[in-house]
Amino acid sequence: MLTADQLLAELLIRARALTRTEHVATENCLGRILAADITAHITVPPLDNSAMDGYAVRAADCIVDNSLPVSQRIAAGQVGVALQAGTAARIFTGAPIPADADAVIMQENCIVEGDSIRIKQAVKTGENIRRAGEDINTGDTVLTAGTRMTAAHLGLAASVGSATLNVYRRLKIASFSTGDELVQPGSPLPAGKIYNSNRYTIAGLIATLGCEWIDLGSIPDTLPATLTALKQASELADVVITSGGVSVGEEDHVKAAVAQLGQIDLWKVAMKPGKPLAYGRINEADFIGLPGNPVSAFATFSLFARPFILKRMGAVDILPTIYSLRAASAWSKVGDRREFLRARTQIGADGVLEAQLFPNQSSGVLTSSTWANGFVDLEIGQTIAVGDMIRFIPFNELH
Ligand code: AMP
Ligand code: MG
Repeated sequence: MLTADQLLAELLIRARALTRTEHVATENCLGRILAADITAHITVPPLDNSAMDGYAVRAADCIVDNSLPVSQRIAAGQVGVALQAGTAARIFTGAPIPADADAVIMQENCIVEGDSIRIKQAVKTGENIRRAGEDINTGDTVLTAGTRMTAAHLGLAASVGSATLNVYRRLKIASFSTGDELVQPGSPLPAGKIYNSNRYTIAGLIATLGCEWIDLGSIPDTLPATLTALKQASELADVVITSGGVSVGEEDHVKAAVAQLGQIDLWKVAMKPGKPLAYGRINEADFIGLPGNPVSAFATFSLFARPFILKRMGAVDILPTIYSLRAASAWSKVGDRREFLRARTQIGADGVLEAQLFPNQSSGVLTSSTWANGFVDLEIGQTIAVGDMIRFIPFNELH
């Protein structure tokens, strides 16, 4: 059995980044991975400009109670003329500072008297001026290849004029669930059956990563059905993800089927919830077999499949940020596997952020994963006393 760290390292070694790229309109690149650096061909902001609505002046002319005639008006998008000594230019936020002006006086700090302004407050040289290039200079690398584009990244790319971006093509992931007990929501539930929840969890996790989802539904627990589904999935997708049937019971056919069509490279991780996680290859497709227990499927996808997929997509920053929080609940069970306990943050009486454990940590209790907003990451054998500092991985670092 591999440790969680070993499994992650072994998976990442095997994650081959995509090679094919495409040009996509910047506004459609949310969640896409940049395939090339973006270099600025302009300076941002291009000119010194006003940070305020007010008057562009020479600071030395601004003696309190003196009055300056307004000699020109410059709105955003316009370029004025050089400022005559002893005058002020009406100026608006974002408008270029006229030559020979060295400060902007806020309109709140002057009194308008006909075509002049009276100075209420002294002005410092440089005040309320946003300098050309204070954000970006020509030739700067604005974003690097491997960046996963968030809304902020889209805006930054647009600020240097990028209308389209060179991004990796979308990764295709096919998934199916295994289990004779599974029924699709929308159908009645006969005795002995359960609704297939993993299909939905996995679909959501795949969509969150911005991958294309190829849904192959659910299949019965037989070797022929498993072989057929795996073969089809491996022909359609870059990565095949299954849930269930990857353990050691007579009804578990996934591992045997993958071994028959390709190879199993990695199996079993010393973690809870989880354990029967498998990785292999079928021709050019990667195979990831998630455990069937719903919380295990959610946790193993989030902690192992996700970084694998992100690297496969071409992303560079693929691991979650782990926080250090104070424990609000105790944990005394000494386990022999690394545990990822479902927990929720709260502000303690003294204002410090702390994590409270969900009372039922069973891998079948899916409510734990909606009640919680993260995993407490417990080393093998670690126990928790209230007040201990613990490792916490917020779910929003994983989605
Ligand atoms: P397995 O890994 O196939 O032995 O399944 C372990 C447990 O997870 C069993 O209780 C299954 O009924 C349950 N399970 C397996 N697949 C799913 C699924 N797609 N949705 C909900 N529960 C499942
Ligand atoms: Mg099963």
